[in-house]
Amino acid sequence: MMRLLSFSCTACGTEGQRFSVLGCLERRPKTICSHCGSTIESGLSELSYVAFIFYANGLTLVLALPVIFSFVGGQWISATALTLLYLLLLTMPAIIIHARSVVVQGR
Ligand SMILES: [Zn+2]
Repeated sequence: MMRLLSFSCTACGTEGQRFSVLGCLERRPKTICSHCGSTIESGLSELSYVAFIFYANGLTLVLALPVIFSFVGGQWISATALTLLYLLLLTMPAIIIHARSVVVQGR
């Protein structure tokens, strides 16, 4: 699982690089290689990003009402669980698709 979420620096080959969780919701997240200091950027295609935005919107539509009803109904455990599930289902695919399409921008 960790191998899916992280990637090797394309400049020096150091493994275990990853984008920040919130950064992955952006079109082109960037990170700095912990070993050589190169700027690593996601080269995700426009089409893949649009597909992800559709997925994210669909996910929001599906989970928004159950989350709202759980909060309104005072069912805190299911509200928390649904919120965590939403964040997980939203960020995991983003991290994985960005980690699969990294490019190095330079130092
Ligand atoms: Zn590096």
